[in-house]
Amino acid sequence: MVHAIFEDLDIVIVGGGICGLATALALHRKGMKSVVLEKSETLRASGGAIAIQPNGWRALDELGVASKLRSNGIRLERIHEIYLNGGKPKEKFVDYSNIGETRWVKRSDLIESLAQDLPLGTIRVGCQIFSVKIDANTSFPTLQLNDGTIIRAKMLIGCDGANSVVADFLELNPKKLHPSSGVRGFTYFPNGHGFAPELLRTIRDKTTAGVAPVNDNLLFWFVNHQYNYQDSKMVEDSKMIKQMVSCPMGHIARPVSERNVTVAGDSMHAMTPFVGQGGSASIEDAVVLARCMARKFQANYNNDHKDFKRKKMIEEAIDEYVNERRMRLVKLALQSYLLGTNMLMFGIIVVICEDLLLQEPAS
Ligand SMILES: Cc1cc2nc3c(=O)[nH]c(=O)nc-3n(C[C@H](O)[C@H](O)[C@H](O)COP(=O)(O)OP(=O)(O)OC[C@H]3O[C@@H](n4cnc5c(N)ncnc54)[C@H](O)[C@@H]3O)c2cc1C
Repeated sequence: MVHAIFEDLDIVIVGGGICGLATALALHRKGMKSVVLEKSETLRASGGAIAIQPNGWRALDELGVASKLRSNGIRLERIHEIYLNGGKPKEKFVDYSNIGETRWVKRSDLIESLAQDLPLGTIRVGCQIFSVKIDANTSFPTLQLNDGTIIRAKMLIGCDGANSVVADFLELNPKKLHPSSGVRGFTYFPNGHGFAPELLRTIRDKTTAGVAPVNDNLLFWFVNHQYNYQDSKMVEDSKMIKQMVSCPMGHIARPVSERNVTVAGDSMHAMTPFVGQGGSASIEDAVVLARCMARKFQANYNNDHKDFKRKKMIEEAIDEYVNERRMRLVKLALQSYLLGTNMLMFGIIVVICEDLLLQEPAS
């Protein structure tokens, strides 16, 4: 008979993506130790570049990693769009000076910056979580790992992306909401690329091709094909439309915590990539969650609190975090979703509003 190995840990973060690492770093900056469990054998940094918007930079500033990333990247001045449908191409410019600081950073640079300031031993790779349960005796969460280990945690934060096991446990039913496919990559120009500091994209039907300078030598490029409702029978299927539209909103409007378990990043708010907010919002989540924890424990997390007291304090901190994020995320998700679908149709808005109004507020 094989006996399970049990391990007791304090704060456990599932997922070593942008949000998991940012959360570990935010907690570390507030004097709280955590362990990040990542299922891949290495920290994944695929996906080319990511646009970080002003809210993301503010959060990275708080984490103390912004200045190095900034110094590696060009600040964008505008979006330059060229529409190729119909006869003559039409151009549109969106000035970034109204939006604020936006830069593209290599995902690998972002992941490395977040990871390298973490204490040794914080990140464990090759650790896939299969399931989450609540221990009937202690009421603390337990996690089952791929190698049979069972981890008993005092606090569990799911940063395991859009198909999150932790969000499943919380019955958030997360879904991938990116009905697009594409290729992306970098081209390095040793003598400089000569492109303007702008996101230049051409749009023809449902295909978008674009380039954005990361720095003077590195150019990020991408081609995306967006599937919209006309591509399928979805437009005739009101149930499917409701499911797709309500998903990000439902996530936020439902309780996103239970018994010392919560979620952050895409596990909490899977957004379409069209407004480039998923990453920035994930880093914001991390900062806010750590701030709520620090406020509750008044920088004394490591004090010898009795288990029941610690449990209650963590629950209260999570409640504050959820409340603080709720309206912020509703706004971001709504903006992201409507931009992504291009469906500012009355019917869709009614479905969204209906969902928002019908959900029970968490408390
Ligand atoms: C094409 C595209 C372009 C985008 N562009 C932008 C952009 O320009 N700007 C922007 O801000 N956002 C952008 N986004 C969104 C952004 O990438 C995400 O919001 C962000 O990466 C979310 O980070 P996360 O850590 O929450 O999730 P993820 O990055 O998905 O990380 C989750 C991590 O959890 C791990 N994991 C999953 N399950 C388990 C498990 N059971 N056990 C252990 N580990 C597990 C995964 O291996 C992964 O490392 C884009 C998204 C896409 C798809």
